[in-house]
Amino acid sequence: MIREPLIFEISDEGKRAFSFPELDVPQDKEILKNIPTRDAIEGFPQVSEVEIVRHFTRLSRTNYCVDEGFYPLGSCTMKYNPKINEKMASLPEFTFAHPYAPQDLVQGNLEILKKTEGFLAEITGMDAFTLQPSAGAQGELVGMMFIRAYHEERGHPRKTVLVPDSAHGTNPSSAHLCGYRVQEIKSNEKGTVDLSDLSRTMTEEVAALMITNPNTLGIFEDDINKIADIVHSKGGFLYMDGANMNALVGICRPGDMDVDVIHLNLHKTFSTPHGGGGPGSGPVGVNRQLEPYLPLPIIEWRDGKYFLDFDRPKSIGRVQSFYGNFLVVVKTLAYILSLGSKGLKEISEMAVLNSNYIRKSLEDEYYLKYKTSTLHECVFSDKFQKKYGVTNLDIAKRLIDYGLHPPTMSFPLVVHGALMIEPTETESKRDLDFFIDAMRKIAKESKENPEVLKSAPHVSYVRRMDETKAARQPILKWTREGGSKACK
Ligand SMILES: *Cc1c(COP(=O)(O)O)cnc(C)c1O
Repeated sequence: MIREPLIFEISDEGKRAFSFPELDVPQDKEILKNIPTRDAIEGFPQVSEVEIVRHFTRLSRTNYCVDEGFYPLGSCTMKYNPKINEKMASLPEFTFAHPYAPQDLVQGNLEILKKTEGFLAEITGMDAFTLQPSAGAQGELVGMMFIRAYHEERGHPRKTVLVPDSAHGTNPSSAHLCGYRVQEIKSNEKGTVDLSDLSRTMTEEVAALMITNPNTLGIFEDDINKIADIVHSKGGFLYMDGANMNALVGICRPGDMDVDVIHLNLHKTFSTPHGGGGPGSGPVGVNRQLEPYLPLPIIEWRDGKYFLDFDRPKSIGRVQSFYGNFLVVVKTLAYILSLGSKGLKEISEMAVLNSNYIRKSLEDEYYLKYKTSTLHECVFSDKFQKKYGVTNLDIAKRLIDYGLHPPTMSFPLVVHGALMIEPTETESKRDLDFFIDAMRKIAKESKENPEVLKSAPHVSYVRRMDETKAARQPILKWTREGGSKACK
């Protein structure tokens, strides 16, 4: 494959990507006098229109995306989402709604927010929702702030938050950001929370347990009721990380499991494609006890219309400008309404079936540390392949040669050399078989021809990369002398 030059390398002095006719009126520089315009940037690339179009088109073709093929990243829910939801979110009534528009003029939009809150509350069994946080991790922090506010109001915020070793990495970070000390709880041999370890560590200094359910091994915490009892008996709260709800939607409700706070990732479960940095939405649901602390403003209904209520004395305050990522919410509502309760339940059934199909199909070739049956994802490791000097990285890179995106690697940390696979509900059996077949071929290659794995990928635009160089020796500015060196 031919290397695409940097745009700086195809730059020539004086080239322009546009041409306008000469002005037929006198130029008036005065008009722009008070407007801060950008000075010429030194070394800024100068290219023609066709050059710029071709450059970015060629680069875009080296990219892999969910519209092109299977994307097995675990803990991510990289699923194909129906385009109709994008179409709904692109209606001008939504995209052109100004955040400062008078509330009377955006009643329909407020209704969309309120309705979605209601559906999410129904799906999760919680009492109230805020749609404001714009990522899962922000939802976690906001949820922890409710818990802190509750304890503070009773005189003592408490010191510690418990987090199982199979939790998502954002959980301890959010607890820490909220001013808590984080203490880890061990998993048992089934891969779920060790109840005796929890009972030992749960004291009246513990503000909450943050539990990821299903956990990052894809395993449902089947002792969740006992876990809730242990935490509540000492006055703590049970926080559930519900980023991976597409194993549970329509089947069971965290509210019924005595969960006190939950966040969802609309950009995983509810039809917003993600990766590449957004936009996302991490709504937080709470029970009645924590409802007074929800962030401002709250959408309320009074005298025949919706309005934004700022009169909430116990609220933790604002956590977002305006009302979060509105268009993500539009997609969520379109998704929920188009599927209906039967369709939503099928999501979970298919996600779990697909994951277990992969788990069963590959368990002879790849080591499974936890044999417990899983929900929406399964975690293998490279233990069998290590004998031949092949690691999870080599397996992941070789998948690229088979036209597939690699799965999540080396996470969760409780499985050494992890390969974490989440097929999602949208993959067909044909596509799953294609993946399974590639994984089997790789297992065979690792015994017979490990060299082909060690040097993979062979057919991709970029070959095996130095995983740390970009972080250790960043080259942030292109120069004609150093530039081409940087991209070799
Ligand atoms: C993705 C994920 C998060 C973090 O969500 P962001 O939107 O990336 O901040 C938290 N917990 C779990 C279990 C996740 O899968």
